[in-house]
Order: sequence, then C-alpha cells, then structure tokens
Amino acid sequence: MKELVMATNNAHKLEEVRQILGDAFSVKGLSDIGCTEDVPETADTLEGNALQKARYVHEHYGLDCFADDTGLEVDALGGAPGVYTARFGSMCGYGESHDSDANIRCLLDKLEHADTRTARFRTVIALVQGGKETLFEGIVEGTILPQRAGEGGFGYDPIFAPAEADGLAFAQMTPEAKNAISHRGRATQKLAEYLLNDASQKST
Ligand code: IMP
Repeated sequence: MKELVMATNNAHKLEEVRQILGDAFSVKGLSDIGCTEDVPETADTLEGNALQKARYVHEHYGLDCFADDTGLEVDALGGAPGVYTARFGSMCGYGESHDSDANIRCLLDKLEHADTRTARFRTVIALVQGGKETLFEGIVEGTILPQRAGEGGFGYDPIFAPAEADGLAFAQMTPEAKNAISHRGRATQKLAEYLLNDASQKST
C-alpha cells in the first residue's frame, strides 16, 4: 500500500479522503507522522497556501504529501473573502479567526445592499510527490442566502445555497448529498482519479 500524508489535523477531511481513495493508499494525518508544529500558511492565494503546506511536509519529513485550501469567492465583493475566508469575521471586528458565526455575520452585513449574491466555493489541492507538484481544483457555484437556513455542516454552510440544490443551503443537505457536489468533494475526486491512475500504471 502506498503511503501519503495529508497536511491536516482535521479528522473529518482525513476520513473523507480515505473513503474516496479506498485500499490503494494509506493516508496519514500530521499527528500520525509526529508533526506537531504549525505548518505555515502565509501565501496570498489558495494555490500558494496549498503548495506551501504540502512542500513543508515534503521538505521536513521526506514524505509525499498533499494539502488543501478553500476560499469563498463572492462576486459583489470582488472575489473576497477568498484566501481570508476563515478569518473574515475578524476583519469586521466580530471575533477570532475560524469563528463561523462571526464570519457569517460579517458576510451578511457586507451584502446587505448588494444587487447580486452569486458566489462560489473553490478548493485547491496541491500534491507534492518526489520532485513533482500537481494542482487540482474543485468549484461549486451558488448564492449567499439573506439569512441562515439548516443545522448541518460547518462554516458558511447555513448561508451558501449551491446552484444545483434547488435553493437549499449546504446546511440543509445530508453530508453525502453535499460531498457529491461540493468544492472539496470535487477537488478530492480529481486527486483520487490522478493517484489511482498513476498507481495502476506503475503496477502494470
Ligand atoms: P479550509 O481551507 O478548509 O480551512 O477552509 C477555509 C474556511 O472556508 C473555513 O474556515 C470555513 O469557514 C470555510 N469553508 C471551507 N469549506 C467549507 C464548506 O464546505 N462549507 C462551509 N464553509 C467552508
């Protein structure tokens, strides 16, 4: 079985990737390889952050690695919050980084008088294998709802309605229905196709 590190401590993301990749790969998280330091994430693009994290693990631990970064791009805000999605609420003075309630309040405030509410979630996955670097992208188009709906999911899920879900918010969908069309699900699927193809070519 080939070993691969995902540069994350998020158990949910690891589980999702393991399910998609199946038995062909053993995917380890940062804690599994004894990486307890903060992996740097200081670039100003999603691509830059994903590459920075994957390169860090590859350089410091000598292991093949992939990392993801996600941003919400709102058209009326010129593509913001983008790479600042996790800490948008603090930019409105509402709270700490990764505070979902503060993030949502900030976005709803900024869109109060907006003519258009179209937006997309975009995930970039960077894979560093040996000396080779490959990027994968997953996008889901949708709109920002004027108020919260649903109890499921995390982050901006109560106010993001994907175009393919008839007005439902991500937070009103089952995890399976969300994963099938989500930005991260789509990027992960592309990574899986690439890795599984690569593995089958090497074994023939
Ligand atoms: P990360 O790169 O996966 O850490 O995502 C950055 C930020 O985007 C998170 O802090 C969340 O607020 C938001 N986010 C990422 N994926 C989702 C999602 O599937 N639903 C809602 N919010 C998300």
